[in-house]
Amino acid sequence: MDATQPAKSQCDNACLHCGTTLEQKSGPGRIRQFCNGDHGKAYRRQMRALGFPI
Ligand SMILES: [Zn+2]
Repeated sequence: MDATQPAKSQCDNACLHCGTTLEQKSGPGRIRQFCNGDHGKAYRRQMRALGFPI
């Protein structure tokens, strides 16, 4: 981890729903966790179905 760079740009998350590697944009905003909003919705619906309070 390079402390001179923003942590966000070094985060190499994959989509939590389908596993696609996501490219993080530098700048303000949250770390991307899903490749699109539908995958975010699908993921949260699935987690709720499994009983997680998400
Ligand atoms: Zn996805």
